Amino acid sequence: MSRPLIGLATGLNKEETYLTINNCYMRSLEAAGAMPVVLPLTDDESLLADYLARVDGLLLTGGGDLDPASYGEQTLPACGTIDTLRDAMELPLARMAAKRPDLPMLAICRGAQVLNVALGGSLYQDLPSQTEARIAHRQKQPDRFPAHPVAVTPGSLLAKIAGAEAFAVNSLHHQAVREPAPALHVCAASPDGVIEAVELPEHPFYLGVQWHPERMWQNDDISMKIFRAFVDACRNRT
Ligand code: MN
Repeated sequence: MSRPLIGLATGLNKEETYLTINNCYMRSLEAAGAMPVVLPLTDDESLLADYLARVDGLLLTGGGDLDPASYGEQTLPACGTIDTLRDAMELPLARMAAKRPDLPMLAICRGAQVLNVALGGSLYQDLPSQTEARIAHRQKQPDRFPAHPVAVTPGSLLAKIAGAEAFAVNSLHHQAVREPAPALHVCAASPDGVIEAVELPEHPFYLGVQWHPERMWQNDDISMKIFRAFVDACRNRT
């Protein structure tokens, strides 16, 4: 079976000299049968359109915080590091992919937040200081171990992929979806009410998860199912 080409968004180090991306995204996509390719950081939208014409799918990776200005807020003291250039690449990519039912999108952690903001939703800038969330969403145990359960929306794409309506996930975030974008459906939440996954029902595969399946796939069946389903959707896109 041929390997679909999957473009991954990257970050930039503080000195703006190196692209940064965790190798585990490559390993998980390779294990699921894909050929991952890194998309260099750019805010040139015509170049982004050219990338989209070549790849079979997109993966938005984890990273720092979005600029709260992108959802109409001032930056609170507890907001983390912002990468404006990354926002300028990923927000348009998320909007372009939403209009392309033939282009599967898997967005992880920051990526899930990007989907939500790109389509008009908002974020909590810092869960501990803005919510009553009772769970440590920044786990202290190694990231291959689960930290909390999620309840999955019956009938959702995520429920179909997982074949389960409850399972445990790791948790390495201090932000989360606040107001879901009008077009997005919430497809998973943690017991303290934090939104843990969103999807675009009008699209065959446009999924954002707040946890990190790329850190768990080697010993977690559902993480691997997510990557396999994504790569299969990229291979079989019409
Ligand atoms: Mn969490």
